[in-house]
Amino acid sequence: MEYVLETNNIEKRYGHFKALTNLNMHIPKGAIYGLIGKNGAGKTTLIRLVCGLQKATSGEYTIFGISNNSKKIINVRKRIGAIIETPSICLDMTAEDNLKEQYKIIGLPSFDNLQEILKLVGLENTGKKTVKHFSLGMKQRLGIAVALVGNPDLLILDEPINGLDPEGIIEIRELILKLNIEKRITFLISSHYLDELSKIATCFGIIDKGKIIKEITKEELEQNFKKRTQINVSNIKECVKYLEEKNLNYKVITNNIIDIYEKINVSELVVALSKRDCMVNNFQEKEESLENYYLNLIGGASDD
Ligand code: ATP
Repeated sequence: MEYVLETNNIEKRYGHFKALTNLNMHIPKGAIYGLIGKNGAGKTTLIRLVCGLQKATSGEYTIFGISNNSKKIINVRKRIGAIIETPSICLDMTAEDNLKEQYKIIGLPSFDNLQEILKLVGLENTGKKTVKHFSLGMKQRLGIAVALVGNPDLLILDEPINGLDPEGIIEIRELILKLNIEKRITFLISSHYLDELSKIATCFGIIDKGKIIKEITKEELEQNFKKRTQINVSNIKECVKYLEEKNLNYKVITNNIIDIYEKINVSELVVALSKRDCMVNNFQEKEESLENYYLNLIGGASDD
């Protein structure tokens, strides 16, 4: 497996306090890596470290195969675009001028691809409008546009949908997926919105008290999720009898609700039960959420 970022027992101390400890994470090339953790778990510290804004106290990491101890790391970091906390954009300037500033900051000789970037993020028609008149979603997309200057291969987004309305969230989701698929950009995204993250991430890292306690791919996660069919019946006794006869895995939830943890043909079940004087009032396919998985792993309620 080729990793864009791999860390080996990273530790970051602030005085005696260990913000990161024995942290091992692996971001596969082409992935959308969702970083999940409570407030204070160490997400921003980790991101700042990868971006070169802070130094690890000990441990090593590689970005695109280059060690943080190598002199080449400075050049490799040019392949990273990042938005940490709030996007670095100027409210009194237009979208285009904001991008031009970024071209100058990173020392690019011309404004090549500037219009393409604006188009990618859907801001090509904002003309002379200054950013202070943009919606939050537009500002966030401009932040991503700024991070795209220099053609990064890895984009790091710290809480990209914080404060966005549903429309803004959908726009950012679609933009991330487009950049991942069309531009083959790998993503590291930290977010508290687990439902949203589970819609786009291809793998997840769960960080707790400065340590990655679990890395899991979307496929592995889906296998972990117990899919179940929940049925509401008029005669629980007969229903249980039938499920026992068929040797199906089930759990009685209430006087008339049963969860069945196996793939079943609901129409067949309805017919079979009706012959036993048991009506199926309704049924629902249910699935565990990423949030449940996360809470089980962390061991209790999150204080996010
Ligand atoms: P949030 O979701 O709230 O942004 P986070 O997971 O990003 O949280 P960090 O900001 O990385 O967490 O902080 C990790 C821990 O390190 C916290 O306990 C924080 O108080 C501490 N910390 C961060 N920066 C410093 C600093 N400069 N000096 C001392 N402690 C710090």
